[in-house]
Amino acid sequence: MTTHTADVVIVGGGCMGASVAWHLARRGITDVVLVERESVLGAGSTGRNAGGVRHQFSHEANVRLSLESIAFLERFQDEVGAEIDFHQDGYLFLLSDPANVEAFARHVEMQRRLGVDVEWLSPDEAAARAPGLRSDGVRAATFCARDGIADPNGVTMGFARGARQLGVEIRRGAEVTGLSVEKGRVVGVATSAGTIATRTVVNAAGPWAGRIAAMAGAIVPVEPLRRHIFIAAPPAAGWAASGPGGTRGAPDTCVMVIDFETSFYFHREGANLLFGMGDEAERPGFDTTVRWDFLERVTPVAVRRLPALSDAAVSHAWAGLYEMTPDAMPIIGPVPEVEGLHVIAGFSGHGFQHSPAAGRLLADVIAGRDPGFDLTPFSLARFAAGGIAGEANVV
Ligand SMILES: Cc1cc2nc3c(=O)[nH]c(=O)nc-3n(C[C@H](O)[C@H](O)[C@H](O)COP(=O)(O)OP(=O)(O)OC[C@H]3O[C@@H](n4cnc5c(N)ncnc54)[C@H](O)[C@@H]3O)c2cc1C
Repeated sequence: MTTHTADVVIVGGGCMGASVAWHLARRGITDVVLVERESVLGAGSTGRNAGGVRHQFSHEANVRLSLESIAFLERFQDEVGAEIDFHQDGYLFLLSDPANVEAFARHVEMQRRLGVDVEWLSPDEAAARAPGLRSDGVRAATFCARDGIADPNGVTMGFARGARQLGVEIRRGAEVTGLSVEKGRVVGVATSAGTIATRTVVNAAGPWAGRIAAMAGAIVPVEPLRRHIFIAAPPAAGWAASGPGGTRGAPDTCVMVIDFETSFYFHREGANLLFGMGDEAERPGFDTTVRWDFLERVTPVAVRRLPALSDAAVSHAWAGLYEMTPDAMPIIGPVPEVEGLHVIAGFSGHGFQHSPAAGRLLADVIAGRDPGFDLTPFSLARFAAGGIAGEANVV
């Protein structure tokens, strides 16, 4: 066992921890150790996500995170030096319930005010954007062409490699087992590979953020919630040729289609098709075993929207953990009762895409710079103050 010191210790090597590390290093804070318990980075939620990137949120603060993050992802290769396979083929939200059409009208107005180019589409126009899609019962759709999908591993490894080149130490296979707090401030981190004396800790442990906070006697309300992803291999005749006249095909772009009321979504993933859906019966917990019986509930919804899926075989599936807060808004910033402890967690189902901006914001806070962003909606203190109207568009 060895004892080290560091200016900053980051707990968690997913996209958030890696982004904070890179942004700290770019601000000249390089005496940083990132501690990840697994033998590889991105083994938590980051390695299990759908790669979706969108501007279309209901809360203005999330749209602002998207504007900054998507602009960053567009220049990621130049700025960070890694390939992230970013396809901006758009996100298509299908709306069947008049109440949701009304709510989206308010969101679209706000998104446009912030400079996001979002279109309203008729059901037929929506179907034309995603060949093979059935739009029965759909009243309206929204589409943003700059939304898309990118590679979570590329982003995480790009940030991590860049941070390491600037002097950050990445310690894999080391589990954080305790946080030392003296007179109300954090002074050290105990890990399975030794202790690190530090006055600044970043809790970037994703679904496990509540457990890390508890080590310092703090409450961070992040609950893990299992979500499934299924992969369908193409039908024998290929997606485009499936069915008479190609009417049962699937898009040949990476457009992300979301049936908002059911939360069923899909996009092309190379030759395959990736799809998923939320399960209202799911209860908080860390279990990521695939429940194949859930596929039986997804299939009728999926086939109704994309009939070609009835010709395709599901080749594999996995489950990962959303990191849910009570208002589905993230927590970015200090823990008021433990000086030196910061949190960047609780991004429900959209943390990957927000990791560039969120990491930048927290790095600015730690560096004592003005982040130029109102962080009130992301503060931990909001829960004690009665909470806020949170994000409605969690998919
Ligand atoms: C099925 C699914 C689909 C999703 N789809 C999307 C999407 O399309 N778009 C999007 O933007 N987001 C999506 N998300 C959400 C996104 O994946 C997460 O918000 C994001 O990855 C969170 O990143 P993170 O770095 O905070 O957490 P994680 O990636 O979970 O990283 C936390 C790390 O902390 C480590 N850790 C935990 N405890 C300790 C400890 N004691 N010591 C050391 N290390 C520890 C873990 O091993 C883990 O590697 C999806 C999530 C799931 C599950």
